[in-house]
Amino acid sequence: MTHMPLSMRTSPNALTPCPVCGSQHAEPIARVDGKTGEPLLTVHCSACGLGRIDPLPTRPELEAWYTHRYRQEYKQAASPALRHVLRAGRHALNRWEWLQTQLGHGSVPLPASSVTLDIGASSGEFVDLMRQRGMQAHGIEPHAGYAAHAREALGLAVAHGALHHVLPGHADKRYDLISMFHVLEHLVDPVETLRLLASKASLTCHLFIEVPNATRFCAPRYMFFRAHTLYFTQISLHQTLQAGGWEVVAHNHADDDDLRLLARPAPDPGPEQVPINWQPSRALIEAQNRRTWPAYLADQLRSGRWLRKQRLRQAEKRAVRGFSSARSLLDALYQDGRLLTSAKGPAFKSMKTSPI
Ligand SMILES: [Zn+2]
Repeated sequence: MTHMPLSMRTSPNALTPCPVCGSQHAEPIARVDGKTGEPLLTVHCSACGLGRIDPLPTRPELEAWYTHRYRQEYKQAASPALRHVLRAGRHALNRWEWLQTQLGHGSVPLPASSVTLDIGASSGEFVDLMRQRGMQAHGIEPHAGYAAHAREALGLAVAHGALHHVLPGHADKRYDLISMFHVLEHLVDPVETLRLLASKASLTCHLFIEVPNATRFCAPRYMFFRAHTLYFTQISLHQTLQAGGWEVVAHNHADDDDLRLLARPAPDPGPEQVPINWQPSRALIEAQNRRTWPAYLADQLRSGRWLRKQRLRQAEKRAVRGFSSARSLLDALYQDGRLLTSAKGPAFKSMKTSPI
């Protein structure tokens, strides 16, 4: 930090404080919900660079919204289509491969008896992969329909409910791998949640996190909408992990579409003992300023991304035609490598990850 940002010298100007550093100094980034067009203020924290909607909802408000409305509003489905299962299964394999690479092993990096927990398990594809790789695999999913699908159609140990209600009940369990894919950006209390997870970590635990990169290039109104309460850059994500008692041990590139990281419980967790040197950043505002329609359309034409996406969608539809259930489809994907081909291709790599 070389100078004090202007907004730090003025009075607090956000309705609710930053859930990571506590500052109420903020600057607006966007004023409408990109999905509905309704008024929605998104700000970036002048102290730590985290983006958030302002005011932030309370946790009970958020939990009620997720449990009853999120999937119906944004996905129009109470249980997943096979095409969704295929895509989620390919994501699960991609994440597993990345994890193995980061841990520096050519084979399974966790002992086969490891206890794993996937938070925001969605329709259970990563939990299923962990179980098929020999783990004692668990999941937690706030959506009743998806949790029921994971239990009944896939036979998985996926609990239905909000994390803060379900996890404290896992009294004596310690996890060797805790994963949260596209969950952290939906929370209002990321630090408290990360500390809760640290209290459930085994001595050798790894935390595997993936969130959308809020600086990625996209259509002008695409980035900010009500379902995402928080917006991360690589730096603000690392600061959040640090505040939550975790030490980042591996991460992907700061410009990738999604930010991935692997963390271990910090030896001496808690900001009381280790003051965090918050790094302010205007990266979110600068990224939003780059998102103009002419730039977006030029990028679409140049990259061919839209066409690839349509082709991928058609290929997914064809690939699932021979399957009658999510169970048979995931068995084919995870056990004998069928359906893998396009997961390695450029179309898959450029595809954005769906939220939970
Ligand atoms: Zn902050």
